[in-house]
Amino acid sequence: MSRPRRSAKHTVTPLAGLREAAAAAALPLEIYDTTLRDGAQAEDVSFSAEDKVMVAQKLDGLGVHYIEGGWPGANPKDIEFFRMIKAIPLHHAKIVAFGSTRKASNPVEKDSNLQALLAAETDTITLFGKSWNLQVTEALGISLSKNLEIISDSLAYLKSKGRCLFYDAEHFFDGYKADPDYALETVRRAVQAGAERVILCDTNGGTMPWEIRDICKAVQREFSLALGIHAHNDTDMAVANSLVAIQQGVRQVQGTINGIGERCGNANLCSILPNLELKMKRGGIGGDRLSRLREVSAFVNEIANLMPNKHQPYVGDAAFAHKGGVHIHAVLKNPVTYEHIAPELVGNRQRMLMSDHSGRSALHRKIEAYGIRLTKRNPKLQELLDTLKELENQGYQFEGAEGSLELLARKAMGRHKPSFELLGFRVIVEKRQADEAPISEATIMVRVGGAVEHTAAVGTGPVNALDHALRKALEKFYPQLSEVKLLDYKVRVLAANTGTASRVRVLIESGDHKEKWGTVGVSENIMEASWQALADSIEFKLLQDKRKNLGGD
Ligand SMILES: [Zn+2]
Repeated sequence: MSRPRRSAKHTVTPLAGLREAAAAAALPLEIYDTTLRDGAQAEDVSFSAEDKVMVAQKLDGLGVHYIEGGWPGANPKDIEFFRMIKAIPLHHAKIVAFGSTRKASNPVEKDSNLQALLAAETDTITLFGKSWNLQVTEALGISLSKNLEIISDSLAYLKSKGRCLFYDAEHFFDGYKADPDYALETVRRAVQAGAERVILCDTNGGTMPWEIRDICKAVQREFSLALGIHAHNDTDMAVANSLVAIQQGVRQVQGTINGIGERCGNANLCSILPNLELKMKRGGIGGDRLSRLREVSAFVNEIANLMPNKHQPYVGDAAFAHKGGVHIHAVLKNPVTYEHIAPELVGNRQRMLMSDHSGRSALHRKIEAYGIRLTKRNPKLQELLDTLKELENQGYQFEGAEGSLELLARKAMGRHKPSFELLGFRVIVEKRQADEAPISEATIMVRVGGAVEHTAAVGTGPVNALDHALRKALEKFYPQLSEVKLLDYKVRVLAANTGTASRVRVLIESGDHKEKWGTVGVSENIMEASWQALADSIEFKLLQDKRKNLGGD
């Protein structure tokens, strides 16, 4: 028998007496993130196992309590994730494996899905089963009593293996509306078999907030264990439905970062978390971790290669942006006039679109953080602000490219000494036969101090070849560059209507054994855009090392 190796850090609290709503309201909420499972089921989203590990670490930093890592029984990639995450220390979150109750034809010991769940070696498993009679008879094509049997023995089996069990009652609200007795009976079976939470799922996302309220109440009259809510957004009600459920005393709330998920998505944790903490005073992730929300939202967009929604509540670029003259005038006097919260609480910032007044102070703060001291009236600050605006117009984006931003700021302030100078590069891609893979080769010439270095390298693609050639040329002078790894490379086409002549933005994430940093390049030529981001990445690494050696700027 396999045993969970991860030690229990966030232990499940004992059954809460939810009949006493007041007592329930005092208990801490559980934030359960399913970005890596339900979120990964969104159209256009695909996470590699490595992507998932990076997202899990971000979510842990945000302070969520549970991270549903994937469905090991349905996805080989997810098995890899569960293997990799065991080696990563997490501070707040517990990793959860997700899967379905056994197939009707399989005994539990022979059910590959249940076996894959055990093999994931998590302390906690979320198992889903059917609550809606129509789903049982039509989708599964089995009898209602057989379904109850499946729920009972699947959960009992996993319980006998020492796991903490959460039961996702799929389509619960639709099931309750169709046949309340049967829907409640499925929950009863799960509770009897040892589920520690029952999560009521609005799987089709069609339930209204008042129905959620009434049905949550009805379930609480029957059971004393802590409930959860899992809402989909097909009627744009997922956040509202989750909050209403919490108001009714539900303890666990499930959702995804930016609300990504099947069809119209899941309940958006980027709205739920600030609503819980700032509007309902119910805590959630605690501490001042809410200020990381915008960063986590941007990170998930980048990793998922999704265009950020500028107008997303709380975390969008425009969430605290003011354009109208009257608004700007008033906000400058008192931000409360047009802002429902202080943007910093969620890591966002105020933006004045018609005036650069606030932009300047935000930039000033940033530059001071780099260790460069200057007054707010210094004309160089305005020059840099103008440059940034111009670059943003061209398609540069510095949200995920702090490395490039710092280099740019240092250059503008006259505080940057380049570590190398490019004298030229050439990249050749050759395909000799139709059925042969192309070969990429790059040659590069750089100057470091008085020395000129000329090298060539091959790679799995042209950018990879250029990356190799650049490092090969520089490692002689800066051996620490061998520590640098290119963690991620992303290309986004900025103006899709000009076909292959479109401008592209390249975002590169690099890291060494201590830190990670992002850099950016924009051009009509993908190699030029890649070069800008690569060169910045290397330059930033050398800058960081210099800074460490000097003990600050
Ligand atoms: Zn779902």
